[in-house]
Amino acid sequence: MESLNINGKTLRLTIQRKPIRNLILRLKTPDELLVSAPYACSTAEILRFIETKRSWIAAHAEKLAQRQARQAESSADGSLAVYGRPVQLQWVIGKGKPRLQSERLVLYGPDSQPETKRRAFDQFAKTSLEAEIGQLRPRWDQVIADYHLAQPSIHYRRMTSRWGSCIPAKSKITLNLKLIHYPLACVDAVLWHEYAHLIVPNHSQRFYAVILHHMPDYEVRKALLNGDL
Ligand SMILES: [Zn+2]
Repeated sequence: MESLNINGKTLRLTIQRKPIRNLILRLKTPDELLVSAPYACSTAEILRFIETKRSWIAAHAEKLAQRQARQAESSADGSLAVYGRPVQLQWVIGKGKPRLQSERLVLYGPDSQPETKRRAFDQFAKTSLEAEIGQLRPRWDQVIADYHLAQPSIHYRRMTSRWGSCIPAKSKITLNLKLIHYPLACVDAVLWHEYAHLIVPNHSQRFYAVILHHMPDYEVRKALLNGDL
């Protein structure tokens, strides 16, 4: 990981080589720049390309920071997205089971401290994602069974910089609880990405070939998640 300086701000730089034709710049957060580059492109070429995009990066980082501030505000006043649909969070002091209705999510807790609310939401997210993944995973279990690989265990936790991770040696996949906010097509893309690491542990050309073979619209699904972590 390298870093670069834009208008006095330090940005982390991550370079990923992929089977693509052109360089693609993406700001993951206001201070992390992700570059997707063709395999043949040298680091020096990438850095020269970034030089020509300085003003775009600075302007975009500013916009992203503003958007994050707005999102933080809107989650404080109780509106959030569940599987891509906007819902109003209703917080009830007392005991009860979380309820997701068409435009409302009802959660319960002993007080209304932010930490209590976050724990209740994470618990709801985990239960809900477990049920959805239960519907999605048989397809991927079948794919890896064809490679004579065992079914992985799937775990859930709140993560700050990744949508998921996979430890092939332990056959263990971890998914980010924040996926609950995105359409199931995106959740499935992250799930499949982590499953595919059981077959190919790295991000080589072969890895993306396996990914695209079973999910031709993978890049479109991932694009919906981009820049939002
Ligand atoms: Zn990966």
